[in-house]
Amino acid sequence: MSSSVSVANEGGVAILTIDNPPVNALSFHVREPLMQALIALQEEASVVAIVIACAGRTFVAGADITEFGRPVQQPELRAIVAALEAIAKPTVAAIHGTAFGGGLELVLGCHFRVADQGAKLGLPEVKLGLLPGGGGTVRLPRLVGAVKALRMIVSGTPIGADEAHGAGLVDAVFAGDLTTHAVNFAREMARKGGPFTPVRDRDEGLRETDLAAFDAEAADLAGKARGLEAPIACAQAVRNAVTLPFDEALAAERALFVKLVASDQSRAQRHLFFAEREAAKLPGNVVKRRIARVGVIGAGTMGGGIAMAFANGGFPVTLLETSQEALQRGLATIEKNYAVSVARRSLSEDAKRQRLGQFKGSIDHADLADCDLIVEAAFEDMAVKKEIFGKLDAVAKPGAILATNTSYLDIDEIAASTSRPQDVLGLHFFSPANVMKLLEIVRAQKTAPDALATVVDLARRIGKVAVVVGVCHGFVGNRMLAARGSELEALLLEGAAPSRIDKAFIDFGWPMGPFQMGDLAGLDIGWRNRKARGLTAVIADTLCEQGRFGQKTGRGFYLYENGSRTPVPDPEVEALIRDKAAEKGIAPRTIGADEIIERTLYPLVNEGAKILEEGIAARASDIDVVWVNGYGFPVGKGGPMFWAGLEGGARIVERLEYWHERTGKDVFKPAPLLKRMAETGSWEAGSTAGIRG
Ligand code: NAD
Repeated sequence: MSSSVSVANEGGVAILTIDNPPVNALSFHVREPLMQALIALQEEASVVAIVIACAGRTFVAGADITEFGRPVQQPELRAIVAALEAIAKPTVAAIHGTAFGGGLELVLGCHFRVADQGAKLGLPEVKLGLLPGGGGTVRLPRLVGAVKALRMIVSGTPIGADEAHGAGLVDAVFAGDLTTHAVNFAREMARKGGPFTPVRDRDEGLRETDLAAFDAEAADLAGKARGLEAPIACAQAVRNAVTLPFDEALAAERALFVKLVASDQSRAQRHLFFAEREAAKLPGNVVKRRIARVGVIGAGTMGGGIAMAFANGGFPVTLLETSQEALQRGLATIEKNYAVSVARRSLSEDAKRQRLGQFKGSIDHADLADCDLIVEAAFEDMAVKKEIFGKLDAVAKPGAILATNTSYLDIDEIAASTSRPQDVLGLHFFSPANVMKLLEIVRAQKTAPDALATVVDLARRIGKVAVVVGVCHGFVGNRMLAARGSELEALLLEGAAPSRIDKAFIDFGWPMGPFQMGDLAGLDIGWRNRKARGLTAVIADTLCEQGRFGQKTGRGFYLYENGSRTPVPDPEVEALIRDKAAEKGIAPRTIGADEIIERTLYPLVNEGAKILEEGIAARASDIDVVWVNGYGFPVGKGGPMFWAGLEGGARIVERLEYWHERTGKDVFKPAPLLKRMAETGSWEAGSTAGIRG
């Protein structure tokens, strides 16, 4: 036998064990011996039943996704499943850990499935812009019903062993030594005798399908897909399982899979899958520091959310404020947020109590002395930050990591206000910090490698997607956001209404446009920022002067009447824009979606190229991870840098040059790296080796 598949015979029951660390992916070097073993066991007279199990921490957690998009080496998973179904002896899958994707499709080829009580089963292919292409869409509904299969396959969300048992996907759930239970189960089935019906010939899940109800749910899910093709293809494939004979539905599934796997959307989503993993890797191998308790300074919008993120990750948190009053206000907000989760049933009353028990409030810096990591989230003001870091220098234990959540400020300068700049770095959370996945980890000039490695690891432990970036105004995300927004006022004045610009963004795939986003976040934030930096934005400033701060005041770029969150275009704003344009002698004209994209998203890409050139980001794909996870860049387009490849570097450079010539603005001046990308078709040729500290 091969090293990745072995067979043992336990009193007539063959135990076929897959051993392909770390997650038993169904690579070619597993599939080939697996197929051979199945053929041999089918003939082997001393074997009355077959158990398929996995070594290590999990069952087969999926296909080998590095093989996607390449010519498939035979045998394919589909052939293995067909071979399994042709076996007359009872076949039993013993599932522990996760049976995902190809792993679940493999077990659907068995007559029976037994699972450890902690096991999870799911078909997450949709998250890679695909559908399960190994028969999953056709077999799963036969066991669990079309609607349940639809939900599982379109969401990609796994279910637990008990739920799988209840749904008919799993035949028995066991605690303890799963292989022993599976062997006993298989022997019992053999004793009872066949014939054993393969899933392809079963239809208990399909018998009472209400196709109208199915279609209604599928339409609802399609509406939420926001331009992604895979969820719609998944729903179609499950529908085929109901309406077509098995083999036809299987062939249709294949055709949809082949189309999706070659699509830009799936390539984009697979790019992001690898990009996230790559972003979390640091060169070298350093010993990480131990983090047992976390301190958070400031219990405002960000501090409260950051404290919750750590408490949710199991860390005790000391929350520091300037006064008892501010502290109590912050703690009350945290409690209220948890209460909302309980009301929504996403958190139990017990878990809420346990999480609240993690918090210790204080107004004395000395109480931070036992913290291993302290995250500052006080006002965005250099003097305030320097004073805080000076105090931290005096009270924090040696080796404690001192982090700032600053959005823009120079972290090297903050670090210099301590005697230990090697322990200082940026942890730039996004709002709401307990929800948003992205964490920009800012490496300052003197940040020690072990401090950096510690927070990268910590980010994973609290469920964040981490990207290491360098110091500059606004780091990667906010700096590029400024470039994206630099032409918005000009577009308004030239005749594109806020709703027209927002529509162009939504049609592109963003969850909302820049004006809806501004209204949601509060227009006063940008206004204050501009004033502090001596900048103006004629329309936005005037709105703020009129007290129109966005949703919170019921009026901003849009109207929000009676507490509604739905933006309604406001003729007053349109009149204001016309007046300001007339004052400046700008004649309004019709502006198309193409121009809106060229003047917002091309500068976004261009700024990304500059960031790469300067070594503020290590890889183009890191920038994509920031934009998809922190700013809602559509996943189906893979992030701005991946999308630039789809759009064509040469076109972007040509149009930027056009706008640069017309406006003379720097945001349009193509970065040398972008020009190089336009020639080579790839960012990597020009990208830098590491973050400039
Ligand atoms: P906020 O005004 O809501 O909260 C700041 C809190 O810090 C207040 O409760 C204040 O009492 C407290 N504070 C001020 N000085 C303090 C001190 N010396 N010691 C202890 N507590 C002190 O502000 P916010 O929106 O939470 O922003 C905090 C930081 O996070 C800023 O640096 C901001 O740029 C950054 N940030 C904000 C966002 C966002 O969307 N709001 C996103 C990312 C980063």
